[in-house]
Parts: sequence; C-alpha cells; structure tokens
Amino acid sequence: MPTEAFAIPGPGSRWRCGHCGNLTRFDVTRTRTVTEYWHFTMAGEPEVAETTVVAEEVASVMCRWCGASDRIEIVDRPTGATPDEKDLGGTP
Ligand SMILES: [Zn+2]
Repeated sequence: MPTEAFAIPGPGSRWRCGHCGNLTRFDVTRTRTVTEYWHFTMAGEPEVAETTVVAEEVASVMCRWCGASDRIEIVDRPTGATPDEKDLGGTP
C-alpha cells in the first residue's frame, strides 16, 4: 500500500469516511500529467483523440457528507456486490 495520505483505491478496495461511514460520495482534488494525442481537422479544430495518464497525485479527498478529510481510509470492497448496488447509502 502506498504511504501517501491519499492513495487511490484499487480494484478490490474503496474509500470510507472514518467519521460518518460514507462510502460513495467524495470531493477529490487531484493533479494529473497526461499525454494527449491532438487530432486537428483540416479547418484547424483540435480534438483530443487519445489521453494517456503519465502521473497522477491525489491532493485531497473530502467526504461530501460531513466535510472531513482527515479520516478517509481505504477498506475492502464487499464481495458479490454489483456496480448497481454501490449507492445504497442514500442522500443525506
Ligand atoms: Zn464523512
């Protein structure tokens, strides 16, 4: 597990707010360095056709429910849950 304060959850883990138990809603502030393939039309309009993330760092993760950012922890995802079941917490 990386040692930085805000690691990005992997395929088997997720964030959880240690204060209120929120699992689903966070404000994430992050910086990304990307390499983009810019494809210009003959008229000169650019379109980003491909993006590769070269580096990514999460500066802060804040709970949308209680506003805390000091106890965001990484926990295991439940086994057997489908993506449709991820938001059972409801809206405050
Ligand atoms: Zn919270």
